[in-house]
Amino acid sequence: MSVIMEKEALDVKKIRAGFPELLRSVNAYPLVYLDNAATGLKPSAVIERMRAFDMLEYATVRRGSYKIGEEATEQFELARADVARFINANPGEVVFTSGATQSINLVASSWGRKFLKEGDEVLVSAMEHHANIVPWQMVCAETGAKLRVIPVDDTGELVMDEYARLLGPRTKIVAVTHVSNVLGTVNPVRDITAMAHGEGARVLIDGAQAIPHMKVDVRGIDCDFYVFSSHKLYGPTGLGVLYGKADVLESMPPYVTGGDMIERVTFEKTTFRKAPARFEAGTPPVTQVIGLGEAVRYIQRVGLGRIEEYERELLEYGERTLSAIPGIRFIGTAPGKASIISFTLGDIHPHDIVTALDHHGVAVRGGHHCAQPLMDRFGVPATVRASFAFYNTFADIATLAEGLREVVEVFS
Ligand code: PMP
Repeated sequence: MSVIMEKEALDVKKIRAGFPELLRSVNAYPLVYLDNAATGLKPSAVIERMRAFDMLEYATVRRGSYKIGEEATEQFELARADVARFINANPGEVVFTSGATQSINLVASSWGRKFLKEGDEVLVSAMEHHANIVPWQMVCAETGAKLRVIPVDDTGELVMDEYARLLGPRTKIVAVTHVSNVLGTVNPVRDITAMAHGEGARVLIDGAQAIPHMKVDVRGIDCDFYVFSSHKLYGPTGLGVLYGKADVLESMPPYVTGGDMIERVTFEKTTFRKAPARFEAGTPPVTQVIGLGEAVRYIQRVGLGRIEEYERELLEYGERTLSAIPGIRFIGTAPGKASIISFTLGDIHPHDIVTALDHHGVAVRGGHHCAQPLMDRFGVPATVRASFAFYNTFADIATLAEGLREVVEVFS
């Protein structure tokens, strides 16, 4: 059944009807939402599931002494199991955090402080989001390890020969993004992982931008850690996922401590629970986890295969249409990229472009996109970024192009 469904084209009109925010207008124009790399809009299915849970099913979890608490715990763990299945992991390998940022901080602090020492090396790439740079920089400063950087070529691809050259017995962990939030480049994470493992290094993949666009199989990739945020997958904010291989998580000390993550506390000594509970101190964001579970089920109903195919068409149309705008320079032209287009337009400041488009109800992002080293690499202070989701249309892109033509006329 699902195979047949996957072959049918996406019914975008029907999908759009399920995203209430797409029906609103902005500055008297219909909203054209093209900032999906920053955050995804929520389908009614997710909003309604969270509302129903809060209305009648809400209780705290993992205390288990009364019925509604037991039921809430069951729903909570069901969501964990659904998220685990979604990425081909075991539920025990899925830690709920507050976001991709916290997931990386957890690994850098817990794993990093235990396993890094002076002379060791941490490899990141030149296309990382600050969330996958700064935590490593901090733990390197603390432990004496060295941060080294895999370069990016002019199209926005990682220079794999340089990666091979940088890898060595000193490399203890490689932390790279699956998909660049600026360039849209899809990195060869399986090869990256296999090469790192060949040197005995661990691998963390930042999947924040990959998870809404493609089927992710953490076992297939064989990475040690994989992180993402719920809100970019059409779920709620304040929630993220850290996948870690069971034995690797088990080798790590707690990151945040307190309630829920302990076995036994005395004033002399505390013992900790196994992962994932060991890394989930305090009352978790129960409703948000229920919401993410629903988001995952929603995406599976739509079909990631169909999403990928449709987004590829949007990207091709976007690149073709925007390339006709005078003065446009695309930043990131790697083959097979995800549906993210970054560009500059002559000398016009990205913020001016964003403001002008906003007047027409078009929401795109302008700035450094939390990737200042990458901006330096391409010699620009900022770019404009349009990022497409499966609920966007060709008409959205045509509106963007029309707006950009107007911007060029006004500023030239
Ligand atoms: N990594 C990448 C590649 C991202 O695009 C983002 C979000 N812009 C993050 C990490 C951080 O995600 P969050 O802000 O949800 O923690």
